[in-house]
Amino acid sequence: RAKQQGKDNFQLYAPEMNKKALEQLVLANHLYKALNRDEFLLHYQPQLNLKTGQIVALEALIRWQHPELGLVSPNQFIPLAEETGLIGAIGEWVLQAACTQNRAWQLAGLPPMRIAVNLSARQFQQKISKTIARVLAETGLDPSYLEVEITESIAMHDVNFTICVLQELQDMGVYIAMDDFGTGYSSLATLRRFPLHTLKVAREFVNDITTDQKDAAIIKSIVALGHGLELNVIAEGVETPEQLKFLHAVKCDGMQGYLFSKPLSANAVTQFCQQQSGSGIAQSLFSQKLE
Ligand code: C2E
Ligand code: MG
Ligand code: MG
Ligand code: MG
Repeated sequence: RAKQQGKDNFQLYAPEMNKKALEQLVLANHLYKALNRDEFLLHYQPQLNLKTGQIVALEALIRWQHPELGLVSPNQFIPLAEETGLIGAIGEWVLQAACTQNRAWQLAGLPPMRIAVNLSARQFQQKISKTIARVLAETGLDPSYLEVEITESIAMHDVNFTICVLQELQDMGVYIAMDDFGTGYSSLATLRRFPLHTLKVAREFVNDITTDQKDAAIIKSIVALGHGLELNVIAEGVETPEQLKFLHAVKCDGMQGYLFSKPLSANAVTQFCQQQSGSGIAQSLFSQKLE
C-alpha cells in the first residue's frame, strides 16, 4: 500500500521525520549546485605580527551566498559538505581561489603575505599534497606564500599518515598551522613529531585571559610550549586591547581577531593593506593599543 501511494508515502512519514534532517537534505541539494552557480566566496582576515605590527598572513574563510538564505556561515555547511563528500570539490575551489587572489595581490604590488587555507578532515586524507602542488603550479603562487590550517582531530586521526603528508607539504615550502590549538587531544609526544610552523591558540582560551587566571596560565604555557618546539604562536579571536596587551606581554608572536580586523572582502583587503603601507596605520594602531 505504501508503494502504491508513491509520492504520498513521503508525506505520510514526513511529520515523523526529523525536521532538521529534512532541512539538511534540502541544503545538501542546494550545496551540490552552489559550486556551478558560483555562489561561494572568500573573506580574508588579517593576521598581525605582534613584534613588527605587520600583516603577515590572511586567513581565507569561505561564505556561501545563498539566493534565499543570504550569506551562510561555514559552520552551517562545511560539516554537511564533509558528510556528503562535496568537500573535495569545495575545498579545491577554496585553494584555487585563495592562491589566485594572493598571486593577484602580489602582482598588484601589495606587500607579500601568506594566504592561510583551512583543510577539512576528508580533504586531508585525499592526496592533498598533490592537489596543492597542482594548484600552486596553476596559479603561479610561490609555496612559501601558502599556509594550510589543520585541527588536532585531523592530525591525530592517523599520526603516521599525518606526519607523512605534513612532511611532503613542508618539503614543498608550504607553511603549516595547527588550528584551534588546545581544544583537541594531541599529546605532547605526538605534537613534537609533526612538522609544523604555527600553533593557533583557540578563541576559547583567549576570551577570558584578562579575567580568568587559569586561562591566562594556559596561554602562557602554550606560548612556552610553542617556543620550546620552535613554533610560532598566534592567538585567535582577539577582541579587546587588554587581551592584546596581555598577549604582547607573554610574547605571543601574532594575533588575529576583530580588534584588528573582521574578515574582509577581497576589495576591502586591498584598501586595508594600501592604507596600512601608505601611512603605517598598523604600527600606530598597534602602539596605541599597547599603551
Ligand atoms: P577557524 O578556522 O577557527 O576560523 C576562525 C573563525 O573565527 C572565523 O569564523 C572567524 O570569522 C572567527 N573570528 C575571527 N576573529 C574573531 C573574533 O575576534 N571574535 C569572534 N567571536 N570570532 C572571530 P568563520 O569565518 O565563521 O569560520 C568558522 C569555521 O569554519 C573556521 O574556523 C573553519 O573551521 C571553518 N572554515 C572556514 N572556511 C573554511 C574553508 O574554506 N574550508 C574548511 N574546511 N573550513 C572552513
Ligand atoms: Mg582556521
Ligand atoms: Mg581557528
Ligand atoms: Mg574552528
